[in-house]
Amino acid sequence: MAGRRTQPPTQAVEPKSGSKRPVRGAKSKAKRVAKNASEEFGKKTIALVYDFDGTLSPRPMQEYAFMPKIGIDPQDFWDESNKIAREQQADPLITYMHLLYKKAKEKGVRIDREDLVAQGRDVDLFPGVTNWFAAIKDYISEHPASHGVELRHYLISSGLTEIIEGTSIRGEFHNVFASEYWFDAYDLPYPKRVITDTGKTQYIFRINKGIEDLDQSINEHMPEGRRPVPFLNMVYFGDGDTDVPSMAVMRKNGGYAVAVHPPGKAVENCIKLFQAQRCDFFAPADYRVGSDLYKRTCLLLDRILADIRIGEEVWQMEQATKAGSK
Ligand SMILES: [Mg+2]
Repeated sequence: MAGRRTQPPTQAVEPKSGSKRPVRGAKSKAKRVAKNASEEFGKKTIALVYDFDGTLSPRPMQEYAFMPKIGIDPQDFWDESNKIAREQQADPLITYMHLLYKKAKEKGVRIDREDLVAQGRDVDLFPGVTNWFAAIKDYISEHPASHGVELRHYLISSGLTEIIEGTSIRGEFHNVFASEYWFDAYDLPYPKRVITDTGKTQYIFRINKGIEDLDQSINEHMPEGRRPVPFLNMVYFGDGDTDVPSMAVMRKNGGYAVAVHPPGKAVENCIKLFQAQRCDFFAPADYRVGSDLYKRTCLLLDRILADIRIGEEVWQMEQATKAGSK
């Protein structure tokens, strides 16, 4: 992990992410907020960002209830969907979202938004996932360098918002960015938002810049020092090739990436990611306290907490020397 540095040069606290802060034409307001909040070091949010399918859950989420309900074999479905995408030069994610409902209609099965949410209850999670969030919170709160640190978990998934909403862990996430349907747009539900592998990186930058409202543009330049969640404070968890763009963005900018594989099998992909320096660590997707994944994540948290503490100390010295030089 060459090229590590302490927190970027800091300015005052940013407004809370997720707020309705306008991006354009808001400079004077931002300045006022900055002036009022300058007594505080504003880079103390840690963001753990997860892929869903294969990372928190063993199989693609559509395989647990949607496909059985319409009587299609998952492997046949994905083969057909990928074949159509190849032949039509179509986006594979738009293709699968369309084909799912096309198949449901052919079988005469109606699946509305509420049905999809209900399907979330059937989704399996890897061991320990349910308690992971509390365990990490405990680890941080008991850490000597955790004073004032805020921990957030985010989900960025190509799967379906509606199914995720029905899972037992939805409430653990500060925000969820996932593909979604419009249910009344046309005859068939129509993709409203499609989160592709590369598209996932947009949401990483949204977390970094504190611009989580999707009606606000992410493209406006924001200097590193004004970004409320530095990459240095972020860890991305993924399971495979579809996570490569996210892992690359994360690591290139000073953040961290962890790859997981199903416990006891399919380790090859992780080894490839590790050897290609896509991830800092890899481990079986066992989220229980004491597992390799838990221990390696805690190592990264130790480093992040130390970086935050150093950044805060430097910031306080900057403030003190500024005041002294007046
Ligand atoms: Mg995955």
